[in-house]
Amino acid sequence: MKAKKLIGPRTRNRENQKKKGSALNEKKVLTKIGFWWLCLVIGASLLAGPGLKASEAQAAATVGTRLVLLGTGTPNCEPDRAGPALAVIVDDVAYLVDCGPGVVRRAVAASKKKGLEALKPANLLYLFITHLHSDHTLGYPDLILSPWVLGRAKPLEVYGPPGLKKMTRHLLKAYQEDISVRLLGLQPANREGYQVHVQEIKPGLVFQDERVKVEAFPVKHESWPYAFGYRFESRDKVIVISGDTRPCEELIASARGCDILVHEVYSAAKLKEKPLEWQRYHRASHTSGEELGKIAREVKPGLLVLVHQLYWGASDEELLQEVRRYFSGRVVSGRDLMVF
Ligand SMILES: [Zn+2]
Ligand SMILES: [Zn+2]
Repeated sequence: MKAKKLIGPRTRNRENQKKKGSALNEKKVLTKIGFWWLCLVIGASLLAGPGLKASEAQAAATVGTRLVLLGTGTPNCEPDRAGPALAVIVDDVAYLVDCGPGVVRRAVAASKKKGLEALKPANLLYLFITHLHSDHTLGYPDLILSPWVLGRAKPLEVYGPPGLKKMTRHLLKAYQEDISVRLLGLQPANREGYQVHVQEIKPGLVFQDERVKVEAFPVKHESWPYAFGYRFESRDKVIVISGDTRPCEELIASARGCDILVHEVYSAAKLKEKPLEWQRYHRASHTSGEELGKIAREVKPGLLVLVHQLYWGASDEELLQEVRRYFSGRVVSGRDLMVF
């Protein structure tokens, strides 16, 4: 009673207003949280594609499968594009495809800028190589040695075409002096991280663990006897990577209905300005924007990502227009460090 007497009508009014105000604030905060949570779940289900259950969408928002473009370049050495390399990240493990020049630095950039722990050098454990062209493999010794120096304590597991064992043996021999000094000198170094386990593959299932199934399929790339594309299937995504190839049936069969198709491309318009012998080479080796549009029309991927773009002076928009002439789905011209 005493306390009540001390509080006059104005004070009570103020207190009531305060109560109302804090209740309103709480309501606002709850509405905001609800709104962002809804956005997160909807965004995750959109990213993860149709047919995903709500619980799976929630999981995909935090873990799930992501594609990171590490290098979208070609032998043309454009300064903003590292050599061909990308990472399929499932939960906290990165599976790299190809190792063009700059691969480890781009992985570090992605780990820092995008907060992707899986791409820290010491965590780089798996590599799949499409073919042995230098633009796709110049970063191989980098990927063998730099992560070791930075603390990787397990061998690198590598899958790729016949010839890969010989290449690996030669590279380790070339760096023998470096490896000896690091092992026997003052530098703290483990004995496993520079080692490489190589599997030379054939088309078909080449790798499977609890997170992902990887199938290789043969593609047609000039006179290479062994050139592969890869199909990654995780619990929430199918991602297909073309490697370097001219249009071929095997790719269409393996990619049909996938969530993301990552495909190489060149400008059909600009090829016509090239010397005849280069025109012949590129037609036998690569896929033009128009050809890719026709391929995508058949494959119907959820998203088409262009990489290894041979522009020869064309713009991204011109390249995309060639593709869109035949394909009306979602298509993006890839750049280094894009994440999907
Ligand atoms: Zn290439
Ligand atoms: Zn090639």
